[in-house]
Amino acid sequence: MILFISPYFSMKKNPISSSVDFEKDGVQHGFLKLPHSHDESAWGSIVIPITVAKNGVGPTILFTGANHGDEYEGPVALFDLANKIQANNISGRIIIIPGMNYPAFQAGKRTSPIDGGNMNRVFPGNPEGTFTEKIADYFNRTLLPLADYVVDFHSGGKTLDFLPFCCAHVLEDKKQQKKCVAAMKAFNAPHSVMLLEIDAVNMYDTAAENMGKVFISTELGGGGSTTAYTVEIAKKGIRNILRHAGIIKGNLEVDKTIYLDMPDDSCYIFSESIGLVEHCVNLGDKVKAGQLIAKVHNIERIGILPDEYHAKIDGVFTGKHFPGLIGNGDFLGVVAVPV
Ligand code: ZN
Repeated sequence: MILFISPYFSMKKNPISSSVDFEKDGVQHGFLKLPHSHDESAWGSIVIPITVAKNGVGPTILFTGANHGDEYEGPVALFDLANKIQANNISGRIIIIPGMNYPAFQAGKRTSPIDGGNMNRVFPGNPEGTFTEKIADYFNRTLLPLADYVVDFHSGGKTLDFLPFCCAHVLEDKKQQKKCVAAMKAFNAPHSVMLLEIDAVNMYDTAAENMGKVFISTELGGGGSTTAYTVEIAKKGIRNILRHAGIIKGNLEVDKTIYLDMPDDSCYIFSESIGLVEHCVNLGDKVKAGQLIAKVHNIERIGILPDEYHAKIDGVFTGKHFPGLIGNGDFLGVVAVPV
């Protein structure tokens, strides 16, 4: 059988233009410009800050923050990195984009206020799609192919809170998985997690991994803000991964990390109630299967016993719902297994 694949889609030009030259040595601060005609600016643009630092031949690392716009450790550490980077201290290329879904980042929201796009659910993107899909397509066809290492910073955002961890995924290609795990270890967050995604389809992670890139991600806290502690984890992780990749010189800064695994769906606890959350364990607590994790109180009526939620497995309480109120189907908590 002969398969005819239309070149039409892949030939479409992405409307984003770059003010930086990815092949030029030195440090360049600039922007990616995506035309956006709207009421306040008829010929306006979405202008996404980017820094490229390059010195000679060597590996390329692509750093992103604000894939979700309300997750801040990555953006803080990456704006800081852009200010400090000097081309003569590196071998290879560093691409820094602190605000990947820039409209979401500007608005302090998880998703884009323009089109509702969740960046981590639209890959591989579409050059003729929504604004979020156009940005994803630019990453998919222009930026990811440049990279050897891809580090995408996440945190819990306004609705989740996590023990700070760096993570890699279980991959079919075990050689690639080994490289990703080595990068996760080098990052050296306080916790290192083999992550099971709830829904991996259309994620940036999956796009990078399918191209054979060494990909790691993080969850460094949550609640829609940062702490000095979690920002320093991001900064140290950046220094370490740059050393691991051979882009900067020096030994890794190694502190204790706890290895955790999320082997299957039994890790996750979801709410089937609407109401007020009473957390019964803290992040980092060891829990047993059957242990009470949280209660959800009915706020419409008083004098009604709360719904109770229990751990399904033994492990460490690793992530939780952040706001005081919760809805039916919302993530309530996750228990990871120490390895
Ligand atoms: Zn995120």
